[in-house]
Amino acid sequence: MQNQTRSPHATTEVLIVGGGPAGLAASIALRQRGIDCTVVEARSPAADKACGEGLMPDSRDTLAKLGVTLTESDGHPFRGIRFENSMHSVDAHFPHGEGIGVRRPHLHSLLAARAVDAGAHLLFNSHVQFPAATSDSTSSGAHSTALVNGGPLRFRWLVGADGQASTVRKWAGLDRARTRSLRYGFRTHYRVAPWSEFVEVHWGRGGQLYVTPVAADCVCVVYITRNPRCDRANILANFPEIASRLAGAEVVSQQRAAVTASCKLHRVASDCAALIGDASGSADAITGEGLAISFRQALALAESIQSGSLEPYRCAHRQIGKLPHAMGELMLTLDRWPALQIRAIRAMATTPIFFRELLHAHMGEKALASVLLRRGPRFGWNLLTKRARA
Ligand SMILES: Cc1cc2nc3c(=O)[nH]c(=O)nc-3n(C[C@H](O)[C@H](O)[C@H](O)COP(=O)(O)OP(=O)(O)OC[C@H]3O[C@@H](n4cnc5c(N)ncnc54)[C@H](O)[C@@H]3O)c2cc1C
Repeated sequence: MQNQTRSPHATTEVLIVGGGPAGLAASIALRQRGIDCTVVEARSPAADKACGEGLMPDSRDTLAKLGVTLTESDGHPFRGIRFENSMHSVDAHFPHGEGIGVRRPHLHSLLAARAVDAGAHLLFNSHVQFPAATSDSTSSGAHSTALVNGGPLRFRWLVGADGQASTVRKWAGLDRARTRSLRYGFRTHYRVAPWSEFVEVHWGRGGQLYVTPVAADCVCVVYITRNPRCDRANILANFPEIASRLAGAEVVSQQRAAVTASCKLHRVASDCAALIGDASGSADAITGEGLAISFRQALALAESIQSGSLEPYRCAHRQIGKLPHAMGELMLTLDRWPALQIRAIRAMATTPIFFRELLHAHMGEKALASVLLRRGPRFGWNLLTKRARA
């Protein structure tokens, strides 16, 4: 994809800093409403990132609203989620639809192509600076100026889509945050045919290893742990079953690392600046919902900007994050307490309906509170007493 240029002294309605999934999704959603926007991205197109690469059915559905329909030629489908530890396993299918594992560079290319198609201006390998606040009033409202690749670009709205370590967040004074957990993800791809119709989450003492099918001959393996100094070269040693499945398989990507945070910001928007995606806080990666959250936020943000106020976006952002944060907290509790994790997976294996309904709640198909109320007592009883069937 060719880099686009903007003439000096150009003006854009919305300046988006960061062209990862969130920034590109925002540009598409804005263009769907006819709003002019420019994305400034530091890296090249088809950017890679350590990620589990799984898009759940709800993520796929939201992406389709942005005009990107993923088919089997884009990756590999999966039909549900399996939790497993060294003793027990439990799985459930999605209530409807299929998830799909898609390599990050491919997803990035699809989003960028769609953004260009929709009329967004994309500036790759570019950088932005914010000189001391320069704001001027015009007939169309207040504008500010940023330096993009050294040249001025005037904008009305600023969107920070610049990821976990967002500089826009600091620049816009929105960096007051509550971080509940920081974990580290290590991702590698192996050339092997997927052996399961599920995304498998293997629970170990130090963290979780999850396996996503991404092609007919490739799986993406991510280990998430609280320990940044874990033995990165020997992660599989703690997961003998996966080690034996991957024995002899060619490693087809360099191991990549990334931080995943469970983090909520005090505010995600000021009068004319808004944050989106990981820049706006995140649920732990184990929820598998990071991309879906970004896509939903993109749709809400575009609607809010069109209305002339970022207040609706603030409310929508809170709403979008509620369920993933709640599910993330449940799973982080199991991560913090390995003895509880062992008992919980054992109990879910004896109460698979509880696991199934939790997954349906995770997909937004059932209310989490009603699942906990209805199935929780039985699960709690099994947690304290029962032994799982072999
Ligand atoms: C280990 C791990 C596993 C995960 N697994 C999954 C999963 O299976 N499914 C799922 O849905 N989600 C998953 N996630 C979450 C998902 O990866 C993120 O939620 C998603 O990448 C957020 O997109 P983003 O655009 O906000 O941020 P990013 O993907 O981080 O993109 C930010 C972009 O901004 C650019 N940028 C930064 N600063 C600047 C600057 N100053 N100027 C210009 N550009 C800048 C960067 O180059 C980057 O391209 C996982 C995350 C981790 C860490």
